[in-house]
Amino acid sequence: MISRVLIANRGEIALRILRACQELDLDTVVVYSEADAGAIYRRFADASICIGPGPAASSYLDIPRIIAAAEVSDIDAIHPGYGFLAENPHFAEICENSKITFIGPPSKAIRAVGDKVNARALAREAGVPIVPGSDGLVEDENQAAEVAQALGYPVLLKAAAGGGGRGMRVAHNRPSLKTLFAQAREEARAAFKDGGLYVEKCLERPRHVEFQVLADTQGAMVHLFERDCSIQRRHQKLIEEAPSPALTPALRQRMGEAALRIARRAGYVNAGTVEFLLDRAGEFYFIEMNARLQVEHPVTEMATGVDIVQQQLRIAMGKPLGFTQEEVALRGWTMECRITAEDPAQNFRPAPGRIATFFAPGGPGVRFDSHVHAGYVIPPFYDSMIGKLIVHRDTREAAIQCMGKALRELVIEGENLRTTIPLYRDIFAHSKFVGGEVDTHFIDDYFLRAG
Ligand code: ADP
Repeated sequence: MISRVLIANRGEIALRILRACQELDLDTVVVYSEADAGAIYRRFADASICIGPGPAASSYLDIPRIIAAAEVSDIDAIHPGYGFLAENPHFAEICENSKITFIGPPSKAIRAVGDKVNARALAREAGVPIVPGSDGLVEDENQAAEVAQALGYPVLLKAAAGGGGRGMRVAHNRPSLKTLFAQAREEARAAFKDGGLYVEKCLERPRHVEFQVLADTQGAMVHLFERDCSIQRRHQKLIEEAPSPALTPALRQRMGEAALRIARRAGYVNAGTVEFLLDRAGEFYFIEMNARLQVEHPVTEMATGVDIVQQQLRIAMGKPLGFTQEEVALRGWTMECRITAEDPAQNFRPAPGRIATFFAPGGPGVRFDSHVHAGYVIPPFYDSMIGKLIVHRDTREAAIQCMGKALRELVIEGENLRTTIPLYRDIFAHSKFVGGEVDTHFIDDYFLRAG
């Protein structure tokens, strides 16, 4: 059983997990760095514990400090949130060996899907199409060039240990491949201490469609349908929606089944996401599986009524899922905007600062997952996300209208602070977006021309 949970994260996701724990009557302990000493959610938790200075390497990423915090606070489980240690198999293993329940998949499953080359092999074994590419890692730039020649340019160089778009480069021809290969390898080494690269054919204007999976310890597994995350900048998601405007019921069923086959093959337990690209011909290809709670999980929560974080906790306690695939349905239309402290007018330069004026939108079907408030100072050490605005309405048209209104109501202002709110207001007024005719190049096509 679990009675006291350590939340090894910060910001909006720490608060999100805190809420789910409290709904299940669990005691909560949150960790915080010196830069987050003023975090408002500290007062909502049963206890909070400082784990070091601002830089994440000395606090949220420091395994000995997190484990020490767990020991002194007498918890029986750790929720890692997303980012930081969430997909670190070594950390999950330490928890397993210390008799601390890791609220997430087993370390073995994290390892199996965390290596993207291995995940591609798993997908192939599960009979799921993968993006054409190298058979495993490529040794050097010459081997990458051979693969690229056979696939045809453009190709993507990707880091096997990748995530967050790091260690990824698009090569359009042989001459540029050389420089890009060195760049990708260097970036992968710096970010993941692993310079392993592989090559994928670069699909032309795909959509990103991912499936949320839940699996209990008794072997039951369901998917909670898809999220369309095609609105991206630099391969990073900005807007997510469910359902995907691009799926037919038959395609949805095939993709959902494919996601489950991969998760089964990986020995998956708890919440995870299987990501696909969908090409213009309606063919889908597996790209990776994320072994954690996703930033965009609220989209699925609003669309299906399933509380994913509560489910994660229940699964970690060994409880059965309690519902079947047939009992899950997508209702209405849900959309989410990731609001960050970046200046879209200055090529998304991080622009943190102090929030002087703050107002959160509300009304039926509006959810704002955030830890910020007037007077809050956004620390410079972490990602620049300040909140997620989610709306749920009966139709896509109504959801777009509702989001437009909520974006007009959302006020987050301060002297040096800039946010992506104005960009989202423009996107939600854009005819192509409103028409659902988008792909992963939408932002480049319509919003970055000058930059
Ligand atoms: P990361 O784990 O670093 O986020 P992913 O493999 O999940 O990387 O890819 C992120 C995004 O990059 C995708 O959503 C898509 O927009 C783009 N992308 C990835 N692979 C391909 C590909 N083979 N062809 C075209 N775009 C791709």
